[in-house]
Amino acid sequence: MIEFVIATNNKKKLTEIQRILAPLGIVPVTAADKGIDLGDVEENGSAFSENAYIKAKAAFDKCGLPVIADDSGLCVDALGGRPGIYSARYGGHDSPYSVKINMLLDELRDVPAAERTAHFSCAVCCILKNGEVIAVEGRCNGEIAFEPSGEGGFGYDPIFTVSGRSFASLTSEEKDRLSHRGNALRMLYEELHARKEDLSC
Ligand code: IMP
Repeated sequence: MIEFVIATNNKKKLTEIQRILAPLGIVPVTAADKGIDLGDVEENGSAFSENAYIKAKAAFDKCGLPVIADDSGLCVDALGGRPGIYSARYGGHDSPYSVKINMLLDELRDVPAAERTAHFSCAVCCILKNGEVIAVEGRCNGEIAFEPSGEGGFGYDPIFTVSGRSFASLTSEEKDRLSHRGNALRMLYEELHARKEDLSC
């Protein structure tokens, strides 16, 4: 069993990361579990990958333990890729997702079905105990629905659809198989698996 500090305060992300990496014997812990306060990290990168590195490096510098950080977001083609890296801050950092979703649907009210293409991106940055940095990025293509549906998932899941079904209406296993985070973490899994022997170094 190898402990990795997952540099996120988002419990839903933590659960998804845990589900996917568990077969490697990786035990995700939070900084809080280790009694460490990560504080606020300024995500001032201009790409998902830069922000993932910023979060991972800040956590690694504080903990000195292997860390995994992700930065993700929703990119809508009709909005030139927005909200993108600003997905969490769209409509105000602390606004509930019901508000962000309504705002996005409102921005897209005149956009026809064929032009509602979008994708989720997820950059994952892992720093091993010896300081080696592993960076991967996953993506999932889909569309923005005209109205929310489904009860599961989190964030923008109720309006992001793949083959006509929203992420929020999929089971966890179905979402993991398709999702940007699932794709990124499977890439990370391969990278870590190749280094399994020296993971604890
Ligand atoms: P981060 O925590 O800075 O990476 O922000 C990610 C933003 O994208 C948040 O607004 C999330 O709700 C949204 N997001 C990322 N991944 C997903 C997902 O799998 N489903 C729904 N929303 C997501």
